[in-house]
Amino acid sequence: MTALQDLVLSYRILAAHGVVDAYGHISMRSGTDPERYFISRSLAPELVTEADIMEFDLDSRPIDQQGRSMYLERYIHGEIYKARPEVMAVVHNHSPSVIPFGVADVPMRPLFNTAAFVGKGVPVFEVRDFQPSGDVIIKTPHLGASLAEVLGGHPAALMRGHGAVVVGTSVPEAVIRSVYLELSAKLQAQTLTLAGADGTIAYFDDAEVTETCARQDSARTWERTWLLWRTKALAELENTSRREATSSGAGIKRLWRRYVCGCGCGRG
Ligand code: MN
Repeated sequence: MTALQDLVLSYRILAAHGVVDAYGHISMRSGTDPERYFISRSLAPELVTEADIMEFDLDSRPIDQQGRSMYLERYIHGEIYKARPEVMAVVHNHSPSVIPFGVADVPMRPLFNTAAFVGKGVPVFEVRDFQPSGDVIIKTPHLGASLAEVLGGHPAALMRGHGAVVVGTSVPEAVIRSVYLELSAKLQAQTLTLAGADGTIAYFDDAEVTETCARQDSARTWERTWLLWRTKALAELENTSRREATSSGAGIKRLWRRYVCGCGCGRG
């Protein structure tokens, strides 16, 4: 499994968990040149294959565009890589359950084990602080850099009226955090309703956040999660390729040869 294949699978994993739909993207910093990153051409996440992955510099200019259309919000990725040298992967999504926490004056807080990282802080990016009121899309280097500034050293930031950005020191970390950020927002909203206006809620305290996150990192807790999600995404990707292959005449012939002979030689 190459790093680029992992990146392709991560698009499907995020879609499978409802973190992205037709929109949203994930990028990966190049392992050989830290001044470059990889991201899909402009495409719905579940349709991304390795052929769709493009390389960009940190000003989000394509290395070899080949006429392909690009995500308008790619500046989110380039500007965060500039500001955060340790970050190796960036997710931008419109994750539905986080939207209310971006627009209400209620901060996201850590309330369960697998989303303990929320306790490291999830600031809210208000686009109107950085441009006159208008389109909320991050379509300029200035807005990308402004978002990176608000994100600071945190694992994620909410984008008011828009979505979220989530970072990690690896593709799995950024993906896993994105999935659990969505779940954390959903559960916090349920908890707030359950507790009512006067109810008390037992959120994680700082020591629980620090020690839970440290144990998860040292025990490599997330390897089990990643293996499960990646295995399912790979099976789905292979099924899709098989369907595409058999929908063409040449593909049907290839498949038929495999049935009649078994070795693929075509002699039957
Ligand atoms: Mn967006």
